[in-house]
Amino acid sequence: MNLEQLIDYLANDSEFQKRLTKWLVFDARTARHKPFPDDLNPNLMSILKQKGIEELFTHQYDAYNAIRQGKHVVVVTPTASGKTLSYNLPVFEDMLLNRETRALYLFPTKALSQDQVNETQDLAARLDKDIKTFTFDGDTPVNIRRTIRSAGHIVVTNPDMLHQGILPHHTLWIKLFENLRYVVIDEIHAYRGVFGSHLSNVVRRLKRICRFYGSDPQFICSSATIANPQELVENILEENVTLIDNNGAPSGKKHFLFYNPPIVNAELGLRRGVVNETRQIMRKLIPTGAQVIIFARSRQRVELLVTYLRTLAQQLKMDPDKIQGYRGGYLPKQRRIIEKGLKNSQIQVVVSTNALELGIDIGQLDVSLMAGYPGSIASAWQQSGRAGRRRSTSLTILVASSSPLDQYIIEHPSYFFERNPETAHIDNNNLPILMSHLKCASFELPFKEEEIFTQDITGQLLDFLAEERVLRKTDGKYFWMQDIYPADEVSLRNAAPENVVIIDTHANKQVIGEVDLFSAPEMVHTEAIYFHQSIQYFVDQLDWDERKAYVHKVNVDHYTDAITKTDLKVLDVLQEGSETDDPFQKFFGEVAVSRVTTGYKKIKLHTHENIGMGRVYLPEMEIQTNALWWEFPDQLRSDPYFTESIIGEGLRGIAHALQNLTPLYIMCDVSDIAVVPMVRAPFSQKPTIYVYDKYQGGIGLSKKLFNIDKHVLDAARNHIETCPCGQGCPSCTGPAMEGGLFGKSSAVKILKTLKLQD
Ligand SMILES: [Zn+2]
Repeated sequence: MNLEQLIDYLANDSEFQKRLTKWLVFDARTARHKPFPDDLNPNLMSILKQKGIEELFTHQYDAYNAIRQGKHVVVVTPTASGKTLSYNLPVFEDMLLNRETRALYLFPTKALSQDQVNETQDLAARLDKDIKTFTFDGDTPVNIRRTIRSAGHIVVTNPDMLHQGILPHHTLWIKLFENLRYVVIDEIHAYRGVFGSHLSNVVRRLKRICRFYGSDPQFICSSATIANPQELVENILEENVTLIDNNGAPSGKKHFLFYNPPIVNAELGLRRGVVNETRQIMRKLIPTGAQVIIFARSRQRVELLVTYLRTLAQQLKMDPDKIQGYRGGYLPKQRRIIEKGLKNSQIQVVVSTNALELGIDIGQLDVSLMAGYPGSIASAWQQSGRAGRRRSTSLTILVASSSPLDQYIIEHPSYFFERNPETAHIDNNNLPILMSHLKCASFELPFKEEEIFTQDITGQLLDFLAEERVLRKTDGKYFWMQDIYPADEVSLRNAAPENVVIIDTHANKQVIGEVDLFSAPEMVHTEAIYFHQSIQYFVDQLDWDERKAYVHKVNVDHYTDAITKTDLKVLDVLQEGSETDDPFQKFFGEVAVSRVTTGYKKIKLHTHENIGMGRVYLPEMEIQTNALWWEFPDQLRSDPYFTESIIGEGLRGIAHALQNLTPLYIMCDVSDIAVVPMVRAPFSQKPTIYVYDKYQGGIGLSKKLFNIDKHVLDAARNHIETCPCGQGCPSCTGPAMEGGLFGKSSAVKILKTLKLQD
C-alpha cells in the first residue's frame, strides 16, 4: 500500500475517523506568474531561463519592484515558495551594475545558511561577472577570513557572529561597511522574545557602524505566516516596511488531519498518550514506504519515540537504523549525517524537535506528523510544510496531547485554520539586554554626547556607565575603558548566557552535548536520567560551579521528572488596569522570582507510573522580571462554598489552564512564562494569580497579556466549562488526583464571578 492508497483506506476506516475532529483537504494550487521586470539584466534573465525559470512568481515580482524602489520589505510566503530568489534577484541586479555593492545575509542558524549559500553560489557561478559569496561563521578557517573581509560581495552569517565576530572588528571590514547596500534577514519570525529583542539591538549597532562609514543599507526580510509580520519587522528594524504577501508559488494536494487520541478514563478525562498514539499511527505508515518526519515537543520525547519506533521497525522486519533522532545537543557532524541520510532516502523516519522546523534542506518528505501541538500556529504550518515540498500529495497529522492548549486547538479547528491570533513581540528596551548592547556599541565606537541609541534615555544610561567606570567621559564623548571584550559576555539566545557541558566519564571524558543554564537544574541534576540519541545516561554529578554534568551510560526502565519550587515577591506596581465595575483588580509590575529544584520523581517507561522519588541540592536562582497579576474579590470568602482550600484548588485549576492557553495569544513558548496561584498573596492578603516572564528584566510578554487579559480569562472559562471530564483533567484544570476534587467547579465559579462577558 502506498501513501495515496493509505489515505483512501483511512478515509473508510471508521475507528480512525472517530478520532478525527477535522480532515481538511487543500487542493493543489497552480502557480501565479508575472513576466520578468523590464529593467532586469539580460544576463540574469538568460541564467534564470537556463535554470528553467521563464517567469517570476507574483511575490517575487512585487518584492523585486519594491526593493528596486528603495523600500525595506518583508516577504511572507510558505516553505518552498522560491523566496530566496525574491532577495537574490534585486541584490544581483544591483551587483551587476555596481561592482562595489556589498550585501550581508543573516540566517538564524548556521545549518540554514549553508543551504542558502549553495543556492546563491550557484547563481553567482553562472554569471560571467565575478560575484563572490562566502559564509562567515565560527567554522570559517582563519586563513580565508581576510579574503572574505575584503573581497566577499555577499557575506553570509548569523546574528551571533555579526554581534561577536564582525561588528566589534568593524575596522577590518571597512570595505563591507562602506558599500553595504542590502541586509537580508531570513526567517525573521524566529526572532521574537529574547532573541528578537537582542537582534533589534544588534541592528541598532549595525546601523550605527554603517552611518559611521557613510552607508545606509536597505533591509529585506522573510517571514513565515504570523498575524503581525509587518509590525514585528518594524519593531525590530525601527523603520517603515513594505509587506509582500501575494504568494504565487504552486503547491501539491495536502491532507491535514486533526487527531484526538481516545479517552481511556472518562472519569479523569485521561486520553491515550501522544507517544503511544504516534506509535500506533506509525504502524500504519511505515509499511507504505513513505518518508516521515515526526516532530516532538521535548528532547526527552524525541528519544522515547526513537526507542519505541526502532523496536517497531524490528517487528516489521525493517532496518532500525532507518529511524533516527535529531535535536539540539547532538554534535554538528552527527546532524549533517542525518540530514544527508534524509536527502538520499537512506533514512525513512526522523524524529525531531523543532530543530528541523526551519528551512534546513532535507529534501522532500511525504508525511509530517506532529506528536503534540508545537505551541504556535506558525510553527505548525512550518512543520506541516516539511511534507510535500515538490508538488506531490502530502499528509499532515496533528496528534493532540492532553494538555489544555492541545485540547483547545484540536476541539476548535476553525481557530487554527481561519483565525490566526498569533502576534510576535519583542522588547528592544529590556534593560539588561539594552545595557549589554550599549556596552558593545561603546566598545565599537565612542558615543557622542547627543547621540541617540534608543529613545531619550541613551544619555542617562551612558552617564550611569561612566559612573560605574565602564566608560570614561571626555570632551563630550564616552570612551570604553575596560579590558574585557563586552560582546563575549553576551549571548543573543539567552537571558543567561552560560551553558552546562555534558561529559561522558566512561568514554574518554567525551563531550556529548550541552544544556542551557536555566534548564540544567531540571534536566541534568545529580541522579537524573538524561537521554541522548535514545541512550540513557545517569548523571553522576552536576558540578554547578564548573557548569559541568558528569554522566555515564545506563540501561534502566525509567526516566526522571524534576520537582521545582517557586517563590514570588512584588517589588513595584507600575500600572493598575481595572475598570470601575470589574469585581477584580489587575496590576502590572516588577517582581522577584526565585526557583529551586528540590527533587525528582522516577517515572516508569511505557506505563508512566511514579516509582520513586529523590532529593537534589541545588542553589536557588533568582530573577527580577515583570508580571501581571489579578487580585480576586474578598467577596469570594463570604460565599460559604469557598473554603480556603476550595479557593486554592480553583486558583490552581485556573493557573493550569492559563499556563497552557496564554501562549496562544501572546505567541511564546509554554516555558517562556510561568503562572503562580496564591490563596493569600503576602503582598495583598487576597487570592491572587501571577503571570510572569521567565527572563531577567522581562521581555514584554506579561505586558502584552495585560492589554488582552479578559479575552484570555474568558477563553479559559469557556475551555474549562466545556471540557468533557468530570472533576478536572490534564486538559483543563489538571488531574483531579493532584488538583483536588473541587479544582474544576471552583475554577469555573471563580471565573464566573469576574463577569468577563460584556
Ligand atoms: Zn477536563
